[in-house]
Amino acid sequence: MQVQNLMENKIEARILYKNCPLCESNNISKSVIGDCSEQFLYNPIIPSIMQWMDCEDCQHQFIEGHYTNEALEVIFSKTEENQIVGHQIEQQRYVSTRMIEKIIPFKSYGTWLDVGFGNGSLLFTAEEYGYEPIGVDLRKDGVSNLQSVGIQAHCDLVQNIEFEKSISIVSMMDVLEHIPYPKEVLTSLHSKMDEDGCLLISMPNSESWIWKFMSRQNQNPFFNTIEHYHNFSKTRLVSLLNECGFNIKKYGISERYRCGMQVVDQRN
Ligand SMILES: [Zn+2]
Repeated sequence: MQVQNLMENKIEARILYKNCPLCESNNISKSVIGDCSEQFLYNPIIPSIMQWMDCEDCQHQFIEGHYTNEALEVIFSKTEENQIVGHQIEQQRYVSTRMIEKIIPFKSYGTWLDVGFGNGSLLFTAEEYGYEPIGVDLRKDGVSNLQSVGIQAHCDLVQNIEFEKSISIVSMMDVLEHIPYPKEVLTSLHSKMDEDGCLLISMPNSESWIWKFMSRQNQNPFFNTIEHYHNFSKTRLVSLLNECGFNIKKYGISERYRCGMQVVDQRN
């Protein structure tokens, strides 16, 4: 694999994509450039330039390469406060409730798997509603904190985990844009889910007018977001989910971040 040329004192941070990570086309070209040096998770041994790429075939926008394990370790050696289990547990419960209410019309019971559970609020609240909560996260501290309060939690890539039960609901709140090859993960999740299982996914929407206005004013923070690999449009997200066996049931706006979208999908 090709590794980016790096300046002095910088580590080899990214493994370049030779093809579009969604459709595998090699018809890709350089797009906008961001700068992650002001980000909380930034470490000066990581190059600050973020080169975005456009796929001319499926119109997806992605970063030129995903991080090496070494770079990931550096970046995730810090934890943002809102990722700590129990952070703002009261306020977050209201936010989580509104997410759960979106799922209930389609799937009102079963196991609820939250991938990248962060502060755990969605799982705590899902349990109140009668769902059986299961958490997956790559932060070891978070996983052991969740386990210590008696909630099933795994510290691994979700595609590597064999769950004892079929999964009824999978939530990925602001997670898919951090995954090097999202299609692989969605396909794997599909195989672990109930036949009428539901997906709840949120991320910024590059087709929103806010995104376009901020880009025009050179103030789009998502071009500088250190841990993002993808800038999804609603159109591309919906078509990707379709390719992986899911149908969109409901579109909405996510309250979690600026420009956020939140979609409910159900297995075919
Ligand atoms: Zn593509």
